[in-house]
Amino acid sequence: MDFLEINTDLHIHSKYARAVSQKMEIPILAEQAKLKGVQLVGTGDCLHKKWLEHLEKNLEGDGIYKYESTKFILQTEVQDKNRVHHVIFLPNFTKAYELREKFSRFSKDIDADGRPWLYLNGKEIAKKTLECDGLIGPAHAFTPYFGLYAHFDSLKDCYGEFVDKLSFLELGLSADSYIADKISYLHNLTFLSNSDSHSPSPLRLAREFNRMKLNQLNFEEFRKVFQQGEENKVTLNAGFHPKHGKYHLTRCKNCLLFYKLEDAKKQNWRCGNCGGVIKKGVKDLIEELADSEGNPERPKYIHIYPLTEIIATAHNIKSFFSKYVKEIWDKFIENFDNEIKVLIDVPVEELEKIDKRVAQYIKAFRNDEIEQIPGGAGEYGKLLPLGKKAEVKFFKHTQKSLGDY
Ligand SMILES: [Zn+2]
Ligand SMILES: [Zn+2]
Repeated sequence: MDFLEINTDLHIHSKYARAVSQKMEIPILAEQAKLKGVQLVGTGDCLHKKWLEHLEKNLEGDGIYKYESTKFILQTEVQDKNRVHHVIFLPNFTKAYELREKFSRFSKDIDADGRPWLYLNGKEIAKKTLECDGLIGPAHAFTPYFGLYAHFDSLKDCYGEFVDKLSFLELGLSADSYIADKISYLHNLTFLSNSDSHSPSPLRLAREFNRMKLNQLNFEEFRKVFQQGEENKVTLNAGFHPKHGKYHLTRCKNCLLFYKLEDAKKQNWRCGNCGGVIKKGVKDLIEELADSEGNPERPKYIHIYPLTEIIATAHNIKSFFSKYVKEIWDKFIENFDNEIKVLIDVPVEELEKIDKRVAQYIKAFRNDEIEQIPGGAGEYGKLLPLGKKAEVKFFKHTQKSLGDY
């Protein structure tokens, strides 16, 4: 039997969500997804009236939709009354309108933001989603502010009896499968690694993606991906090394000094250097809940970075948006079709024909030999040029506090 194997980015936002690029429209997304190398993309915001109209106008199909060669699946993210975010997939437009109707009664204005705020808890949201034949799971589960584990110690505390009906858990940029599997309760749940992109730029779109094996591409086969069967499943997760995410380590929001968890606690979450608020990182949050060494059954997770960022870092160029960076990026895509191929598939010798420094950088991260300043407190991790060592400064008790000056 022939299977399809496709790359998917299943969580993005439309131009109708807060702080999102006005370029987030289907024709641009379809084109950019192709250059990036993803075949199936979440629509984002599929409960928003204007976005639904845009989707209906631009997409054709049933369950899985398409614009030119790029496929789309109806997807949204909602915020519950505890500020936890959930990712939802729906089987068709009828169900999307149905769920929109159900949720409208629990929102002051469901169209105020592409990511609606609902006066419902996780359990109620799961119940209503399942009534519409949808799939649900926590979005960027470990992220401070809007991740489930920022507010609850377990999935059950959030979803109640619906915990067994969850289809997946989204890791978020500051976690990967290896650290998330330190929580044994999660071993039976499919992990998704999605971009949560607010822009169609190759710097953001599909910066994380899932490779899936499916019998056929329709919604019911997609649903089976999450049922832990032998046939349809996630075969690979790819995304940032957790160090590259914005919330990986515990860090002061003001002066960006890093903290060991026990020091942050001793300091009562106030920075000993500047008095600012210390934000707990995903790594420490997971360590606190850890009860397992890992899960050998889990598909591989590979660490990737946007090609744009790699080119800029390899050539020591400050701006990711410089014309020179874009020229090199274009050359790679012209030669190898799409970015994901360049990042993970094309042999280094082939890449060297286009640009030696970039090829060496890609070789290094494929071997997990990249150095970077880790992310934390809302700052992304920063890749370092090859040969440069990362110096990471942690708070030390001997350090003078503000009062000493
Ligand atoms: Zn979110
Ligand atoms: Zn500080």
